[in-house]
Amino acid sequence: MPTPSTLISETDLQNRIDEIAGEINRDYADSDLLICVGVLKGSVFFMVDLLKRVTAPVAVDFFQTASYGGAKVPGEVRIRKDLDLSIRGRDVLLIEDIVDTGYTLRTILDLLRFRGAKSVKLCALLDKVEAREVEVPIDYRGFPIENVFVVGYGLDYDERYRNLPYIGVLEEEQ
Ligand code: 5GP
Repeated sequence: MPTPSTLISETDLQNRIDEIAGEINRDYADSDLLICVGVLKGSVFFMVDLLKRVTAPVAVDFFQTASYGGAKVPGEVRIRKDLDLSIRGRDVLLIEDIVDTGYTLRTILDLLRFRGAKSVKLCALLDKVEAREVEVPIDYRGFPIENVFVVGYGLDYDERYRNLPYIGVLEEEQ
């Protein structure tokens, strides 16, 4: 398999995660429990590194979606794995690897609010700004990136590359 070229180095990722954790620690200093919801599978590496730096009391849960093949419209995002925890009356932080069109996160954010969370915020490591089709406010954003297909640090190509410690780009011809 080809080695992806580096878009964001391991050092830059870890430095930015330090900063984001600092913001979260300030914002949730008074929270009695922050429910951190990771979107499987891509967010796992980011979530682990981030939450090791968070000092507020946290609970961890996961959500997994799948899009029906073909056209992307909001109603086509399907829940593959739902939360185990109740979020009613709780502060929720949704943690995602990348926001692309926004359909997946729009659907999850609406669902979390519908279930009566006290607050819902979004933390996304990567933001493909130009690919956005539905508006999704990102409260904590790692890096804006161009509209290229990235792998590594949780992100896959056909389930490969997730364990790269950096964000890389697979060139077209590869
Ligand atoms: P959205 O609903 O925002 O279009 O899609 C978000 C999901 O698409 C992400 O959670 C991720 O699984 C996938 N995705 C979007 N862009 C990329 C990319 O550049 N690389 C990889 N590996 N996955 C991506």
